[in-house]
Amino acid sequence: MEKLKQIYEGKAKKLFETEDPDLLIQEFKDDATAFDATKRGTIMNKGVINNKLSEKIFGLLEEKGVPTHFVKRLNDRDMLVKKVKIVPIEVTMRNIVAGGMSKLLGLDEGIILKEPVLEYHFKEDKLHDPLINEYHVRALGIATDKELEAIDKYSFKVNDELKKFFDSKGLILVDFKLEFGRYKGKVILADEVSPDTCRLWDKTTKEKLDKDRFRRDMGNVEEAYQEVLRRVME
Ligand code: 5GP
Repeated sequence: MEKLKQIYEGKAKKLFETEDPDLLIQEFKDDATAFDATKRGTIMNKGVINNKLSEKIFGLLEEKGVPTHFVKRLNDRDMLVKKVKIVPIEVTMRNIVAGGMSKLLGLDEGIILKEPVLEYHFKEDKLHDPLINEYHVRALGIATDKELEAIDKYSFKVNDELKKFFDSKGLILVDFKLEFGRYKGKVILADEVSPDTCRLWDKTTKEKLDKDRFRRDMGNVEEAYQEVLRRVME
């Protein structure tokens, strides 16, 4: 499968058409951005690492019954995916207080939540992906009831499966962001699942092994991504 016309370039990925109108090639870049792209940089080999990690995680989720856009990994940086229409909602699932939740509610990072928290954010960088609820989603027609039902069900399932999976690798899944897309009348998981989109802490030392190292200038960013890949592939 070859890359034809580029149809999109985002902060971390590019999308290309292929000869099959239902399939795209998703290319993972090393570019890193944070705080709605006001902070920019490069994480060496991030694209290669996130491509492999996403392959592994999408494969695992498919096995567990979560439909995804993943078809196959083509090479170091390219993945063949189904062409979806992205639902403009970023779903955040949280198991432990960190980042946005800590800021929003004035809570210390690290508080273990009694149950997972699912949040919808309207996907619009210039508004800083504002927090919305299911009434906004329905009233504005952002997604149908049926789509929202599927999004919720899959998001909790992804959390259950990935919590178990990362735990077996000595990692705590603190929180993560998912994006869904419409494909042939159904909602499926799209985008990527990687240390760019998940907070992962070492189970014993609580060391951060994710994009927060870049956001907070903590150093050893590439090493942290490599460490997650090493453990996931073990
Ligand atoms: P927070 O709302 O605390 O900033 O983010 C919660 C989780 O979702 C974190 O794991 C974070 O990496 C992920 N996340 C939220 N929004 C974005 C986004 O726009 N881009 C990326 N890469 N991850 C996000």
